[in-house]
Amino acid sequence: MTAGNGRPPDPGSGLRFEGDDLLRLLETTLETLPLGVTITDLAGKIVYANQAEARMHGFTPEELVGKDARVFSPNKHWKPMSKEQIDGMRRWRRESVNVSADGRLLPVVLTSNLVRNAAGEPLAIISICEEIAGRRDTEEALRRSEERFDVVAQVVSEGLWEWTFSTDLMEFSPRLLEMLGGAPAPSTETTTSWWDRVHPEDVEVLRHALDEAIEGLSPLVNVEHRLAHADGGWRWFLCRGLPVRDTRGAAYRVVGAMTDITERKSAEERLMRDAFYDVLTGLPNRSLLLERLQRSLNRQKRRAGYQFGVLLLDLDRFRNVVGSLGPAVSDRLLTAIARRLERCVRPGDTFARPGGDEFAMLLDDITGHADALKVAERVQKELSQSFSIDGQEVFLSASVGVAMGSEAYERPEDVLRDADTAMYRAKARGRARHEVFHESMRIRAVDRFNLETHLRRALEREELRLHYQPIVSLATGRIIGIEALVRWQHPVRGIVPPDEFIPVAEDTGLIVPIGDWVLRTACRELLEMQGALPAGHPLLAMSVNLSARQFTEPALTARIRAALDDSGVAGRQLKLEITETVLMENAESAAGMLRDLRALDVQLHIDDFGTGYSSLSYLQRFPIDSLKIDKSFVWRMEQEENLEIVKTIVSLAHGLSMEVLAEGIETPAQLAHLRTMGCDAGQGHFFARPLTRDQVTELVSSSPAW
Ligand code: C2E
Ligand code: MG
Ligand code: MG
Repeated sequence: MTAGNGRPPDPGSGLRFEGDDLLRLLETTLETLPLGVTITDLAGKIVYANQAEARMHGFTPEELVGKDARVFSPNKHWKPMSKEQIDGMRRWRRESVNVSADGRLLPVVLTSNLVRNAAGEPLAIISICEEIAGRRDTEEALRRSEERFDVVAQVVSEGLWEWTFSTDLMEFSPRLLEMLGGAPAPSTETTTSWWDRVHPEDVEVLRHALDEAIEGLSPLVNVEHRLAHADGGWRWFLCRGLPVRDTRGAAYRVVGAMTDITERKSAEERLMRDAFYDVLTGLPNRSLLLERLQRSLNRQKRRAGYQFGVLLLDLDRFRNVVGSLGPAVSDRLLTAIARRLERCVRPGDTFARPGGDEFAMLLDDITGHADALKVAERVQKELSQSFSIDGQEVFLSASVGVAMGSEAYERPEDVLRDADTAMYRAKARGRARHEVFHESMRIRAVDRFNLETHLRRALEREELRLHYQPIVSLATGRIIGIEALVRWQHPVRGIVPPDEFIPVAEDTGLIVPIGDWVLRTACRELLEMQGALPAGHPLLAMSVNLSARQFTEPALTARIRAALDDSGVAGRQLKLEITETVLMENAESAAGMLRDLRALDVQLHIDDFGTGYSSLSYLQRFPIDSLKIDKSFVWRMEQEENLEIVKTIVSLAHGLSMEVLAEGIETPAQLAHLRTMGCDAGQGHFFARPLTRDQVTELVSSSPAW
């Protein structure tokens, strides 16, 4: 109708009419067109609308003239175009959704163009409106899906929501409003007021999750965030949503569900508190101290001139104090000491109780070791005043070891170890004093800590503990089992990780009695935990690690049978983890051993898969139930080639009809990759760290889902 320059076509080029006749001709053409035509002035006011346009939107042409063009749009908030925008306008075509007089939504294609006068100045905007074919089907589908939504909304316990882009409105099920403390009535609100309900710290992650799903970068929205409750507090929700797409694949709405996970979250927070703070004194515990130390080590590597120091304090002859006062009063004394010594540190420092009668101070950002010594002196001075507990006057002193941070330290444990060594030197020199660590002390440290003799006594003194790390089904996101991981609660060194003593235990043969203890304890505690879970909770599986030495021990099957019989745990609940090297190096005897274990209905897993060498033919020959991908592969999955390796292991395992597990999952991205690959189960800090028996029972009872 309009040429590129906006002027009517030159009558000479075809139409042999002019003046009124030409106008009549053009007008009739417009009225006959099956497409809607609207002409608006530069302020957005309708100056002309043809029959088709009016009919399509449920108006008469007369009703439309003089109205704002926004009458067609469900989004009343858009602003009219500025002069500059209008002037720069070209012919432009877009898909949109219009709304009719009675509120029906109308998917349309709009084509607009600017009409200019003879001088080239903008005159009016002409828009052609075409209904998208199959509109009725779309409407029908929409109506049916709304019906379904309403029915579902009434029966599920989750709150449902629906966000429609064209109207920018959020619709909630009555249940969702009820969860937020409102009246359970159906309701609609604008997205702006919805965002106001979201916790400010969670806005970013929610927005990101929605964007990713809408753009198709992730299949669905799956995010945890807080929403304001009518009582003024916050509730945690698991928000899941699915974008609904039109035939062209463009999302036009998102439909989702909200599950209240507040209880699980607070259980997690409690676990976190228990995991990082000492229950008796409320001070940071060893784990938190190590974390802070790690932070200081990192800072030292980054920032020139930054220094930190660690003070390790051990109360002198505290055992005698406990002996004479009794444990309850000693606990009160420890708390009193904690409160008094708190005064010696500055706000940015960490004052911790790593265990027993030991305290530690991490002095952050100090100018040199003179600062650390000053604090050590203050500690001695504070302790030189007696404590009055239950009417008794108690005199105490402490030996203090000081270690200064240095870039040579790789691990926070090493800093503590050196502070510990210096502290022992202080004790050896007569107690109630402090010493600064020096390299020359290290030799004696080895002497003092004679691992083997200590380990021998560890079993008799019951210093071994089992921690349990949850194993999660990636299909359901639920905990299906736990792995028993042994720890040594050393009276001086604190918790010694298995990597530091299992090798010694293997060399000396101590692994056999230790392994037996692990097996029996794990079975017994599994039964106790199972008993503490809510009724009807599915059975948990227990994974226990076996070392090479145990595996070649002929009595192994008999020991396992005894552990099962004595505890009452069913064979199929027990999973034994062995490394591939163990299998491959003892291939001949291994086959027989595995068959015997099989007869007990016990399952067999290959641990740390990928780090040893496996012969495929052996793998196939052995009755193995699953492969556990070593964490080093999981951690390097960002690189394409490692991703391929993991994929290959997954399909290899499935090809051999084995299950496949991944350990060391730390990030949501790693989890997402593994899920996509079809990996069956996973374990890692992302879900939970190894926990004490009570912590893991509490976690499993709260039925978390990831
Ligand atoms: P494993 O059997 O491969 O156990 C997994 C190790 O990875 C555990 O270390 C666990 O704490 C750690 N881990 C799990 N998820 C993550 C994660 O997301 N990030 C990181 N950084 N680490 C993660 P742990 O407890 O120190 O045990 C080390 C190894 O000691 C075990 O490796 C196992 O080979 C051995 N071990 C532990 N308990 C026993 C036992 O009772 N008997 C025997 N023979 N060996 C044991
Ligand atoms: Mg293991
Ligand atoms: Mg492993």
